[in-house]
Amino acid sequence: MIMKKCLFLDRDGTINKNLGYIYKYENFIWLKDAKKAIQYAYKKDYLIVIISNQSGVSRGYFKKKDCDLLNLKINESLKKFKCKIHKFYYAFYHPNFKKKKYKASYRKPNPGLFFLAKKKMNIDLSKSFMIGDLKSDQIAAKKAGVRFKLKRNNLLKEVKSII
Ligand SMILES: [Mg+2]
Repeated sequence: MIMKKCLFLDRDGTINKNLGYIYKYENFIWLKDAKKAIQYAYKKDYLIVIISNQSGVSRGYFKKKDCDLLNLKINESLKKFKCKIHKFYYAFYHPNFKKKKYKASYRKPNPGLFFLAKKKMNIDLSKSFMIGDLKSDQIAAKKAGVRFKLKRNNLLKEVKSII
């Protein structure tokens, strides 16, 4: 089976404004050209996968099902651009709110969600990229063997600089 290339994206601060603990679409503010950036990579046959820490679930601020609904709305808003995010992988774990069902290894800077995505979606990590706005994104990508680009400005420009 042919393995797929993937553009991994952090969520808050990378595709939307990081306002903290976002779980409602009304608080999900797309960053400039983020939809175009996703469209660009999608058209080049990249899987688009979000890898994001969402400790708000462990903290009890919101529930997993809130994330599921938000994901649907995010993808609805991408329909006009004829693209989508193939999968959202979230780490709900936080060390201060230990809940057994959430894995520490998934929380960036740990690379666990990259390996989960690789296994579930048949991704070739060596042909893939990660873009994020934090050092923890970079560390996680490096541990997973995924090339990393720090988002400094417009996401479309960043995507075009690597693929
Ligand atoms: Mg971020």
